[in-house]
Amino acid sequence: MAVRGVVFDMDDTLCLERDYVKSGFRAVAHHVRDVADAGEVFRAMWAMFKEGVRGDTFNRLVGRFPEVGQAFGVPALVGVYRNHTPTIAFLPGMGGLLTTLRSRNIKIGVLSDGPLSSQQAKAIALGVYQIADAVMLTDSLGREFWKPSPEGFRRLEAELGLGSDALVYVGDNVEKDFIAPNRLGWATIRLRVEEQLRCGMEPADEAASPAHEVRSVEELSALFDAMING
Ligand SMILES: [Mg+2]
Repeated sequence: MAVRGVVFDMDDTLCLERDYVKSGFRAVAHHVRDVADAGEVFRAMWAMFKEGVRGDTFNRLVGRFPEVGQAFGVPALVGVYRNHTPTIAFLPGMGGLLTTLRSRNIKIGVLSDGPLSSQQAKAIALGVYQIADAVMLTDSLGREFWKPSPEGFRRLEAELGLGSDALVYVGDNVEKDFIAPNRLGWATIRLRVEEQLRCGMEPADEAASPAHEVRSVEELSALFDAMING
């Protein structure tokens, strides 16, 4: 069966996750500029990110800049990060690829996990609501429906009006992206490029493995050509 619909993950598939993180840290640094040096605050957070710190960056930040913690508190900093208007862009070539798919009458979907406010802001910044036929931010269903839950994928099948054998999911994360679509009978593609946070990871087992792997947007485009022509 030829592919009639392509569903994309967002972070590190349509855009680089590190660009969003950098954009969020800039917003937080700007927010605290009256009590601390914004440049220093940004550089501290970015250094932590590059060292692999995840999840407790703002706790560490207020440990190092107590004046920031006294004036704002960690929950407020998380709020600034998640609600900021991000400066992000499609991976080079991705915008053109989406336009080409549309011109060939291929349905386009987006399915993404993550805190809803962040994901909505990213989707708006990228313009995916204009480009995609259906957008499924799984957090809108609840935390238990994040990948690898199949629920979001099933809803997209219904919304796009396509059977599982006409759909393909493109993602980057071998821990969770491919389990549900594999089980539902979709084709799956891992886009693997150096700039991604999880580029070096390997899937734990067959169930989590993508059916295909491509190393560039150009390779992805060529694979789509073959799949669309059946
Ligand atoms: Mg991703």
